[in-house]
Amino acid sequence: SVKSTGRNGIQFFTDQIDLNQNSRLRLLNGLHLALQQQQFVLHYQPKVNIHTGQITSVEALIRWNHPEMGWVMPTEFIPLAEESGLIGIIGRWVLEEACRQCLIWQQQGLPPIRMAVNFSGHQLQQESLLKSITDVLKKTGLAAQWLEVEITETVIMQNPEVTINILQAIQKLGVHIAIDDFGTGYSSLAYLKRFPVNTLKIDRAFVRDIEQSDTDAAIVGAILKMGATLKLNIVAEGVETHGQRKFLEQHNCHEIQGFLYSPAVPPERIVEMVRQGENGTG
Ligand code: C2E
Ligand code: MG
Ligand code: MG
Ligand code: MG
Repeated sequence: SVKSTGRNGIQFFTDQIDLNQNSRLRLLNGLHLALQQQQFVLHYQPKVNIHTGQITSVEALIRWNHPEMGWVMPTEFIPLAEESGLIGIIGRWVLEEACRQCLIWQQQGLPPIRMAVNFSGHQLQQESLLKSITDVLKKTGLAAQWLEVEITETVIMQNPEVTINILQAIQKLGVHIAIDDFGTGYSSLAYLKRFPVNTLKIDRAFVRDIEQSDTDAAIVGAILKMGATLKLNIVAEGVETHGQRKFLEQHNCHEIQGFLYSPAVPPERIVEMVRQGENGTG
C-alpha cells in the first residue's frame, strides 16, 4: 500500500502532523483515484521559432484538478507519484494522451507540430519503457518523428552510461530527444558528444537574469556556441521579457518557450494560436 512505501515518515502520522504533511498525505491518497476519475489534464506550452515566431512544437505539462484542493501543479505531485510508484501509469497516460492530441491536430489540418513529453528518472528505469512508447505510437497512429521526449540533465547524469543506451534505443525509433533544464546537471562536453540528443533546453534559471548578470549571459552564450558546434537545436526556457528574447536572438538561439509568448494552455488554444500564426496575425 502507499502508506507503507511512503518516505519521510508519512506512515507515522500523529496528532502533531503538520499541515504540509497533511496535504501531502491527501495528495498521495488522491493520486490513486485521480486517473480513474479523469482528474488529470494536459496543457500545452508552445515553443516558437525565434526568427519567424511560428510554433514548432508544444510541451505537454500535466495538471491535476483535485476535487477539494483545486488545481495542483506537477512540482507538487510528480515527486509523490515517483515515491509511490504511480508515476508508471501516470506517465503512460500522459504519453498516450499527448500523442493522441498531436494526431488530432494533424487530422484537423494544422501544420504538424512536434509533441514533447517529460519523462522522469523512474520512467527511464522501467524495462517496459521502450515497449510502452512503441505501443502508444502504434495505438494512436502518430509517426515517431512527431514525438519528443524531455529528460532532465540531472536525471541523465545520475547514470549516464545506462541512460545513453536507453536514449539510443528511443532515438532509433525515430523519436526526438531533448535534454531538459540544461546547465544544471554538470554534464561535460565529452558526454554531450556521445548523448543521442537532438535538442538542449537551457534552464530558465540562466535565462532569468540574462540581462542583469554577466555570468549568466556568458553561460547562456557558451551553451549556444557549444550547441552550434554540436549541431543541436537549442531552446531557451522561461523567456518572459523582450530583452531576454533579443539577447537570445542575437546569440543565435533557435527557439524560445516562456510566458512572453504563452504559458501552457488547453488544446483548443493551441489550435487558435497556430491558425493565427499561419495568417500572420499572431
Ligand atoms: P519543465 O519540464 O522544465 O517544464 C517547464 C516548467 O516551467 C513548467 O512548469 C512551465 O509552466 C514553467 N514555465 C514555462 N515558461 C515559464 C516562464 O516564462 N516563467 C516561469 N516562471 N515558468 C515558466 P510546470 O508545468 O509547473 O511543470 C514543472 C515541472 O514538472 C516540469 O518542468 C517537469 O519537470 C515536470 N512535469 C510536468 N509535466 C510532467 C509530466 O507529464 N510528467 C513528468 N514526469 N513530469 C512533468
Ligand atoms: Mg520539460
Ligand atoms: Mg525545463
Ligand atoms: Mg524543470
